[in-house]
Amino acid sequence: MTFATIVLTLYPEMFPGPLGVSLAGRALREGTWAMDAVQIRDFAIDKHKTVDDTPAGGGAGMVLRVDVLAKAIDFAREGHPGCPVIAMTPRGKPLTQERVRELAEGPGVIVLCGRFEGFDERIFEGREVEEVSVGDIVLSGGECAALMLLDACIRLLPGVMGAASSGHEESFENGLLEYPHYTRPAEWEGRTIPEVLRSGDHAKIAAWRKSKSEIDTRLRRPDLWERHIGVRVQSASGAQHEVQDD
Ligand code: SAH
Repeated sequence: MTFATIVLTLYPEMFPGPLGVSLAGRALREGTWAMDAVQIRDFAIDKHKTVDDTPAGGGAGMVLRVDVLAKAIDFAREGHPGCPVIAMTPRGKPLTQERVRELAEGPGVIVLCGRFEGFDERIFEGREVEEVSVGDIVLSGGECAALMLLDACIRLLPGVMGAASSGHEESFENGLLEYPHYTRPAEWEGRTIPEVLRSGDHAKIAAWRKSKSEIDTRLRRPDLWERHIGVRVQSASGAQHEVQDD
């Protein structure tokens, strides 16, 4: 089945953009996934096609109107009732590979892109919209964030990347960073490839990669490491508990 992506944006010309080239582009042409970039302004209510207004309580910038957004979402949902609606916002839950995998296994996704100061808060509960952030950074609009989210989903669709994407060794798939890669030349500017990778001993290579993955995660991403260790301790104590019960 075709994975449906519907992007609600003030800049539909930004899509499919980078997703129209390379493997995602080929998959788009082959019908593995489809994209509909919808102009939010088409759902404006007044004759000036206004989509934003000044913030309640004062302050700089403009806020996207809840009534206009609701009409755009209702339109998208009508065509794709099974698809979750995700708003890109730095106030959202950080995007994870786990959530990406869930989305990629579903029928598709409706993505709402903000601009200016963002969305009127009432839209999230009023239309059951999931808030997602792509990192602790502030972009000028949700479009680049939407492209990131969609790229991560599309590469997981069956047939898009072949065997490579289903590999569970990749970063985050097991809660760790992936081990580092090397290729020819064996020596470059005096720097060599770790000897073990040229040994041909698959068990040794696997052990080295596992250990590198753990060391690098611990050093570079203590947050991921803590979680990984936490999960291990939890399952170990769970197992112990079972033994005691017996
Ligand atoms: N005033 C907002 C930022 C608005 S940035 C705040 O401080 O929280 C304008 C738009 O860019 C947002 O509505 C959102 O759609 C998008 N955006 C910016 N940073 C983002 C991020 N880290 N993740 C997802 N979307 C982001």
